[in-house]
Amino acid sequence: MTKHITHWIDGAAWGGVAERRGDIHNPATGRVTGTVDFASVAEVDQAVGAAVGAFASWREASLAQRTRILFRFRELLDAGKDDLARIIVEEHGKVHADALGEVARGQEVVEFACGVPQFLKGGFSEQASTGIDVHAVRQPLGPVAVISPFNFPAMVPMWFFPLAIAAGNTVVLKPSEKDPSAAQFLAELWQRAGLPDGVFNVVHGDKTAVDRILEHPDIKAVSFVGSTPVAKYVYENATRHGKRVQALGGAKNHMLVLPDADLDLAADAAVNAGFGAAGERCMAVSALVAVEPVADELIVRIKERMAALRVGAGCAPASEMGPLITRQHADKVTSYVDAGVEEGADLVVDGRGHPIDGDDTADGFWLGPTLFDKVTPEMSVYTDEIFGPVLSVVRVASYDDGLALINANPYGNGAAVFTNDGGAARRFQHEVEAGMVGINVPIPVPVAYYSFGGWKNSLFGDTHAYGAEGVHFYTRGKVVTQRWLDPSHGGINLGFPTHT
Ligand code: NAD
Repeated sequence: MTKHITHWIDGAAWGGVAERRGDIHNPATGRVTGTVDFASVAEVDQAVGAAVGAFASWREASLAQRTRILFRFRELLDAGKDDLARIIVEEHGKVHADALGEVARGQEVVEFACGVPQFLKGGFSEQASTGIDVHAVRQPLGPVAVISPFNFPAMVPMWFFPLAIAAGNTVVLKPSEKDPSAAQFLAELWQRAGLPDGVFNVVHGDKTAVDRILEHPDIKAVSFVGSTPVAKYVYENATRHGKRVQALGGAKNHMLVLPDADLDLAADAAVNAGFGAAGERCMAVSALVAVEPVADELIVRIKERMAALRVGAGCAPASEMGPLITRQHADKVTSYVDAGVEEGADLVVDGRGHPIDGDDTADGFWLGPTLFDKVTPEMSVYTDEIFGPVLSVVRVASYDDGLALINANPYGNGAAVFTNDGGAARRFQHEVEAGMVGINVPIPVPVAYYSFGGWKNSLFGDTHAYGAEGVHFYTRGKVVTQRWLDPSHGGINLGFPTHT
């Protein structure tokens, strides 16, 4: 029996009949496992209507009430993490441990959001002028939208909605149509946690749903994560309609390895960050910049580790890397491997021949881990975000050449340096043009109390996700200047404040 996923509006599964639907696949087997309804304008309007209706009372809910619900959601999420991870594995394909890691990183944002009262405290200035006090508050915006990509169907939505809800907003989530079931699971958890109906809504679908969200007059802010062309499109269109927007885009993350680096640490990092989740991570390392003479020895160690990588269905306990999300995407990534060979890069490990574990995987969307050496900056394996298990080694003569290469790249999400030289590491973190920097850490995703975001083509807008910047994004400031009649201090003064 196949599943059917539909929208979640005003605390209930949508009861209508969709005009359009999409298939849901298990990428490991290639089989269709269900269908998902695609929202038309009318369903988006219905979800936004529910969010508008719920906002009036949710913004009045006390901080104590909101955070109690958040704590309950956190407990339910923790108890349900294995089930949620299984859903992610089935639709995304990543291995179970990785899916659990995704849920854990999302949960950290929920935990941060439990402490939101601390961040909503405004400042107070007593006696700013004679008899006049000034204080600041931050208030919610209203209904806000979250539009998320396929690669983290639970974590990326959780970068946003816990804080949006904690700050008193209501939410319409439009998850990826490729793996929509995690959103359904999260919606049901919210209901069990006691969140009032209409505060958290989910609409499924594609561009039609997104376009309606971008133009809808009642949506006050949009948090988007996805590929750079769509991020730019979302940013331009939603801002044109007067919305606050943070649109996180694609990436081409570099790892610079200096000659004094610990090569075993660097090789482990390259394999984990290059091939974990089949390279379908916005923080995946896809360009390893080797400062000579380090490349030959480093490649030997990376090759050894790649040969041992078990590729198979994410639900099999031995698997370390799963399939790609769709057949179309697997074909696209494979075509980059073909192009790399044609353009003259050295194909050190060819993922096209990597054995796939399991009996039921023949029709899955597979490509094994692939390593290119002697890649040059004009080759398509270097210029494009491949979003698959393809790692390119670019050899450079010096730290300066490596830094110049990284800074010339149009993306600026994450960047890492591997070295035992503190001075070089310090210089790198100061000079590199990227929003998140790792020093002997290949995937420097900030913890929940910092904020996540890239530079250049990796983020459109000026606010990063979660942490203090997330709270700021989902609230607007108000400053109150007040004076109270106090007869014992000379009575009323109707003049303009003189700031004396
Ligand atoms: P995508 O851009 O194809 O889709 C993202 C969302 O936009 C989905 O909900 C999708 O339905 C919608 N969408 C797709 N095409 C659209 C269009 N033409 N008009 C309007 N909406 C559209 O991205 P994806 O393939 O789901 O995810 C992978 C991409 O996301 C990669 O580029 C990856 O780097 C990026 N990503 C970035 C971050 C980050 O933090 N910067 C995090 C995760 C993923």
